[in-house]
Amino acid sequence: MTLPELEALMLSLGEPKYRGAQLYKWLYAIGAGSFDEMSNLPQALRERLAAGFSPDCLRMVAREAAKDGTAKYLFELQDGLRIETVYMPEGERSTVCLSTQVGCPLGCAFCATGSMGLRRDLLAGEIIEQAIQVRRERPGITNVVFMGMGEPLLNYEHTLKAVRLLNDGVGIGARRMTISTSGVVPGIRRLAREGLQVKLAVALNASRDDLRNILMPVNRRYPLSVLKQAMQDFARATGKLVSVEYVLLQGVNDSQREARELVQFLRGIPCKVNLIPYNPVPGKEFARPSPERAERFKQYLLPHLSSVTLRRSRGRTVRAACGQLCTRTTSRRARPALRERATISPKIPPRPDPSHS
Ligand code: SF4
Repeated sequence: MTLPELEALMLSLGEPKYRGAQLYKWLYAIGAGSFDEMSNLPQALRERLAAGFSPDCLRMVAREAAKDGTAKYLFELQDGLRIETVYMPEGERSTVCLSTQVGCPLGCAFCATGSMGLRRDLLAGEIIEQAIQVRRERPGITNVVFMGMGEPLLNYEHTLKAVRLLNDGVGIGARRMTISTSGVVPGIRRLAREGLQVKLAVALNASRDDLRNILMPVNRRYPLSVLKQAMQDFARATGKLVSVEYVLLQGVNDSQREARELVQFLRGIPCKVNLIPYNPVPGKEFARPSPERAERFKQYLLPHLSSVTLRRSRGRTVRAACGQLCTRTTSRRARPALRERATISPKIPPRPDPSHS
């Protein structure tokens, strides 16, 4: 719920408007998990709120932690569906990776989430609360990436509402947030016009259409030439580098040929490149390249591109490839949650169907 929405709720309950600001602070800046904690609200109001609402709309049902500090969380939504969130500490930085949909409609060949299909879009409150609940256990989150289950730019309204609430309510700078897309060009163009400091990452994974059509079917709708133009325009409009994510799949996109194609594709795009060795997914035929092979790919790129990093393996013991912890759904009854109620109204535009190219 936004601040004006909470103020309206307080007025509707016969409370002064400023109670909305108090509640807003408890829900987002502090991240209270119960109305009991909200010590500057009158006891009677706390009891009324507790009788009608829950401050949380997610229930944490599992967590796994790796030795490197990476932790993966499984949350259950009020309709029983489940989503994943990953926490990744690295030096001074602590990043939380948020899901924006339950499943994903885009069906990338290497992705566990893609195999689930789309169950539904997440509400803004459900997106934000992943960060809030992780922060309760691990304070000091500095960065947010929208790179978990789902394609954020196909759930545009709720993702952008979550960005704004994370910024204004939770207190995470927009510069420290990155929206990652598989290449949904209308969403990239719309994001460029928002005037936000939020960064863009593009999961590229192949630099020629025939290969990318197979790995990422969204490419049939928005082929590489169209995607490249959108990336260039985004960089020009925002003055920001585009992050290019490239998952290395052994024997598929990690040879010198693909490295050369990547250099060619990125010519003229202000960008930095993150190479990510694949985390194998049970049931998928793709494999992770050896460290030497991944390093060779990086070395080929280095003289041609201004910034190339090869991400070290993170959280392999917590199955950090998306969709691997989320295996089944259950149902449960729940009271309406304030963070969820807040986000029901905005209408989501019809999503493009990548199979209709
Ligand atoms: S990689 Fe991303 S866009 Fe592709 S299916 Fe998985 S969640 Fe969806």
